[in-house]
Amino acid sequence: MRRIVVKFGGTSLGNGERIRLAASSVRKEWRKGTQVAVVVSAMGHTTDELLEAAREASGGNLQARDLDDILAMGERTSARIFAAALRSLGVKARAIDPGMREWPIITDSSFSRAKVDERRTEERVKRYLEPMLRERAVPVVCGFLGRNLKGEVTTLGRGGSDTTAFILGKYLNASEVIIVTDVEGVMTADVNEFRDARLLDSLTALELRELGRFGARVMHPAAMNYKLPQMDAKVIHFRHGDLSAPGTTIKGGILGSDKMEVTLHEEPIGMLTVVGEGMQRTPGVLLQAISPLSRRGLNILGVSIGPRSFSLYVWQKDLRKAVELVHRQVKKSRVMKSVTSEENLAMVVVESEEFIDTPGMIAKLTSPLAREGINIVEILSSRASISFFFRWEDRERAVKVLKGDG
Ligand code: ASP
Ligand code: MG
Repeated sequence: MRRIVVKFGGTSLGNGERIRLAASSVRKEWRKGTQVAVVVSAMGHTTDELLEAAREASGGNLQARDLDDILAMGERTSARIFAAALRSLGVKARAIDPGMREWPIITDSSFSRAKVDERRTEERVKRYLEPMLRERAVPVVCGFLGRNLKGEVTTLGRGGSDTTAFILGKYLNASEVIIVTDVEGVMTADVNEFRDARLLDSLTALELRELGRFGARVMHPAAMNYKLPQMDAKVIHFRHGDLSAPGTTIKGGILGSDKMEVTLHEEPIGMLTVVGEGMQRTPGVLLQAISPLSRRGLNILGVSIGPRSFSLYVWQKDLRKAVELVHRQVKKSRVMKSVTSEENLAMVVVESEEFIDTPGMIAKLTSPLAREGINIVEILSSRASISFFFRWEDRERAVKVLKGDG
């Protein structure tokens, strides 16, 4: 039995005609005997409009609880219109809204960025949505919305209807999740800026999550945390009016979920550092130092740049060779003055979406390390990851502490 979850983004529901096109693409699949659950965003720019009106109307004094309840009206409306469109096409359909007993998505009470209660949600998806699918009805679920234990409406954060789709896909054990949007799929760059951007046939769930974390709007990064490896998924353009359109396939999955991920690299790492005051004002210095390493096939695991030095991280077994190669360049250069190195380092990478918008995350991670007397040799950070370097002998204790069970 084929079972799919299809999510329609705002643009694909921009007007009545588009909603009808979307509904008929669902009907086509449903007539083949496929069980279909639909997730809808708000029509067009409804969410932005509601947000602006609510803010203006309340003179900048809007309660988060009220705002979520107001924004929810976008999805609550589009679910009803979509279900009506399906019924007009002879498909049994039902709008599923947070006001109903059958509402599946249960969250905590952090309005505007609510966290999903996975246990309760799974149980409700199985209890309420699954039987509808078996009876050949199409549930049309409001994306982006949740409900807390008091029965109040919450939202999962802007763009959150992607997350709704993958949550339902996971707990319904769907064979495929299809994201219908206003681009052909995932592109090599933003097509609005780069006309020559190419469509990707496929990428992995981890790659797509990273793109989302670093600002691409094609998919909400949190959605990928619910992508199971065995589940197919793709992003397609609404203009085809056809759910079998090719688009971009999302491969693999992410085991675990939105919890913080802590990874220890199993081999010791070496660091080499080049010092020179004039380096930062001289173009091409880094390339000059690094290119002999790449010609020899030495892998660089990390780079950090300070005001008068830069460091390269390599596997310890490559360190000696790396220093030798860089040293040759240092001798030829006027701005690179001297190279030094350190060995027996361990690299521990911590990844979490929370880093993106939660203040104080570095302090939260480093203060327990300080309390345990574990020295941090170096920290590198990107928007969604923090790489710690410890002495090799401290690695296991450090991992324990970072995981919060030190
Ligand atoms: N309508 C919501 C938003 O505009 C959620 C979504 O589209 O995913 O952010
Ligand atoms: Mg959207």
